[in-house]
Amino acid sequence: MMTPVLPTYARFDLAFETGEGPYLFDAQGERYLDFGAGVAVTSLGHAHPRLVAALTEQAGKLWHTSNLYKIPGQEKLAVQLTEATFADTVFFANSGAEAVECAIKMARKYFAAKGEPERYELITFEGAFHGRTLATIAAGGKDQYLDGFGPKTPGFPQIDFPHTVKDVEKVKAAIGPHTAGLLLEPIQGEGGIRAFAPEVLRALRALCDEEGLLLVMDEVQTGAGRTGTLFAYEQAGITPDILAAAKGLGGGFPMGACLATEAAAAGMVPGTHGSTFGGNPLAASVANEVLTVLREEGFLDRVKHAGLLLKQKVARLVDEHPTIIEQVRGEGLMIGLKCKVPNTELVAACIDQHLLTVGAGDNVVRIIPPLIVTDAQIDEAVKAIDAACIALETAQTKEGA
Ligand SMILES: *Cc1c(COP(=O)(O)O)cnc(C)c1O
Repeated sequence: MMTPVLPTYARFDLAFETGEGPYLFDAQGERYLDFGAGVAVTSLGHAHPRLVAALTEQAGKLWHTSNLYKIPGQEKLAVQLTEATFADTVFFANSGAEAVECAIKMARKYFAAKGEPERYELITFEGAFHGRTLATIAAGGKDQYLDGFGPKTPGFPQIDFPHTVKDVEKVKAAIGPHTAGLLLEPIQGEGGIRAFAPEVLRALRALCDEEGLLLVMDEVQTGAGRTGTLFAYEQAGITPDILAAAKGLGGGFPMGACLATEAAAAGMVPGTHGSTFGGNPLAASVANEVLTVLREEGFLDRVKHAGLLLKQKVARLVDEHPTIIEQVRGEGLMIGLKCKVPNTELVAACIDQHLLTVGAGDNVVRIIPPLIVTDAQIDEAVKAIDAACIALETAQTKEGA
């Protein structure tokens, strides 16, 4: 029988009533440690007092006016984002897919406005995920998400993931008369916490410069402090031309943003793009506070420290449970455990230990806690993963017996 909610999700049989910091509580008051953060969204944890204050203060004043009028909070947020990044200008949307969609449109328009409308293709990389709209499933290129939804939106040739600088030759070979640029996640999230090496990113940047192409980064998951810098591109010492952000930027309030240099945004003149809700007063009030916290002295250093601690501790689990986990990947608080057992089994075993994690492609379990986690909470999570591994090993032994 059809469920009232369209059954597109394979959900866990869990529901939560309240949250506090990195913890979630169900209706029975059972406490769970949330190291999935709503898929890298609740960057400051649940019910952060400053976000609650920002949202409730705005809620008492004004919710929505549309982009027909100036929105002071949105302008303030754009100033914060342009001050803190490579960007000169920002478009606000409500989700990651919409932010990527704007990035795609902007890249195409850049060339169209220069009299080269035939340059509309963005080269993408195997393992990518860019969202679930018709254009972003084409960009992701995964058959499972494209199947049955009509012709694939043109303009997204996909090539193998470049592991080394030498592989960048293959990217160069894929460039043709229709190429507008490259679209990539500095660390693939849904694809299984697969990072472009910094030297590969630098080589791709150089390639784009040589060929006059745009480097478009999807930092929907890696952004907003997740990897220990405000955006992951900073760690490679390069800048993109266009960048999509969302997830952690709103701290749980739906928010997306497309950041760009003045040059890359040159085609986006009045009337070329829009959104009813994008950057509305409620969303802007929360995102302004998120960004203010992320930019405070020492906050991102603390994320780096927490990330190193988490990585070290889970690396030990790889040694102790080689039949369960085979590798640790990632940067900052975006850590992936490449599993030997099906990743779904480790996610489920962690839930039994009241720890929430998130599965990803390539048989990986994502450990993506809120950025405010303490060392003690990291300890607590690692103990839970350890216990989950032991439970899975016990099951393996029984099977073997
Ligand atoms: C989650 C995600 C998206 C899509 O974001 P939505 O808010 O679900 O539309 C796009 N790109 C990346 C890298 C993501 O992780």
